[in-house]
Amino acid sequence: MAEKDADVIIVGGGASGMMCAGIIAAKGKQVLILEKNKELGKKLSISGGGRCNITNAELDVREFLKNFPESSKFLFSPFSQFSVKETFTFFEKRGLPLVIEARKRVFPKSQNASDVVDVLKKGIENSNTRIFTGTPIRSITHEDGIVTGVITKGGKAYKAPYVVLAVGGAAAPETGSNGDGFRMLREIEHTVADSNPNIVPLKVNEKWVHKLSGTTCSFMEIRFSQNGKTKIKKKGKILFTHFGISGPLVLNTSFEVSKLLEKGPVHAEINLFPDTNEGDLDKRVVKLFDKNKNKKLRNVLPELLQKSLAHAVIFLANPALGEVSVHSISKEERKKLVKTMQSLGFMIAGTMGLDRAVIADGGVALEEVDFSNMTSRKFPNLYLLGDILHINRPSGGFSLQLCWTTAWVAAQDILKRLV
Ligand SMILES: Cc1cc2nc3c(=O)[nH]c(=O)nc-3n(C[C@H](O)[C@H](O)[C@H](O)COP(=O)(O)OP(=O)(O)OC[C@H]3O[C@@H](n4cnc5c(N)ncnc54)[C@H](O)[C@@H]3O)c2cc1C
Repeated sequence: MAEKDADVIIVGGGASGMMCAGIIAAKGKQVLILEKNKELGKKLSISGGGRCNITNAELDVREFLKNFPESSKFLFSPFSQFSVKETFTFFEKRGLPLVIEARKRVFPKSQNASDVVDVLKKGIENSNTRIFTGTPIRSITHEDGIVTGVITKGGKAYKAPYVVLAVGGAAAPETGSNGDGFRMLREIEHTVADSNPNIVPLKVNEKWVHKLSGTTCSFMEIRFSQNGKTKIKKKGKILFTHFGISGPLVLNTSFEVSKLLEKGPVHAEINLFPDTNEGDLDKRVVKLFDKNKNKKLRNVLPELLQKSLAHAVIFLANPALGEVSVHSISKEERKKLVKTMQSLGFMIAGTMGLDRAVIADGGVALEEVDFSNMTSRKFPNLYLLGDILHINRPSGGFSLQLCWTTAWVAAQDILKRLV
């Protein structure tokens, strides 16, 4: 190459781009980061509800990769080079202690996603790295099967012997990743699957559900059924929102639900007392009513349930009962209340869109990537990282681990080739 602007151009200053850049710059190579946003790491800074679920503490690579059922065969190679253990070492060595929480999810001890961004930024604040923010890239240039650089939307060309595409996928486009990478890859004849929101809240149209917005139900069972048959049954925590339902359990079930929705309407039912049978729950209600004979139901039921849920149960069972003293509630009416507590039902109107998605699938076909070094099989000096790959995975730290692994593997390969 006659002239070059850097040893490596990294397009996208998100999780994977920043990590890759830092590793290369630390070895004295010249890195140019081109980022369309005004700031780096926008998505990372809001990840994990602002706490950043940085990885998942499953140290056995085989077990870890069971979470990637369709793509694990591709991922053994990069994960045998850099996996969860190495992620712990990488961040802790750079002054970011990590803690393991429920379901092996790992967070920074500070509980602050911006600390993760800061660690990665520190790695690129040096004389080997130039960072151009506010610089959207339009296309990748190539000649005779070799990538030569990129062109900005404004028409400026940058050249380098190695180009890393780390522009993310199509989920949460307000953070910068709006599918630009898919378009650029299609233009250079890569096969790219369209994006569907995979890990995404579910939409419900019923108003009583919207009224529960902000209510978290820590232990319930949700059943999704079609044509009267239960198709999916899960126990855990649910969060009601102003558009429907969310929370890790719903997010991780949304893909299966979206597949059901393709076949027809889906009904959901929440059991607020999944470990209690109807008879025992009725006995608890009888006891509660005996203790509060002259009080109104709407003031009594919140002793058993969160107030918002108690009011939803009354609304669904019989709204008129709310103002009635519990001693005048009939056996049938009480039994209906009990039944309702174990079967709050509503229709699923759909999944929310890409704008609300934590993860969307879609991306470059895995057969077109050499996973031993993260290069394109069409262009041996083009590297593909993170969300741009067509890989389904659950929530729980698996997406970011994919970023750390692919970034590290690509960086090592580039360093080897730059010697
Ligand atoms: C709300 C939310 C919460 C999440 N929480 C977690 C979590 O806790 N744990 C977890 O594992 N995963 C989480 N994820 C997923 C995780 O954040 C992503 O998998 C990860 O950020 C992907 O990293 P990336 O480097 O591939 O892309 P991104 O982080 O999306 O970075 C891509 C960068 O490229 C830039 N870019 C895009 N197009 C261009 C262009 N044409 N020119 C120049 N620059 C461009 C973008 O502006 C962006 O800065 C979450 C996602 C969302 C939306």
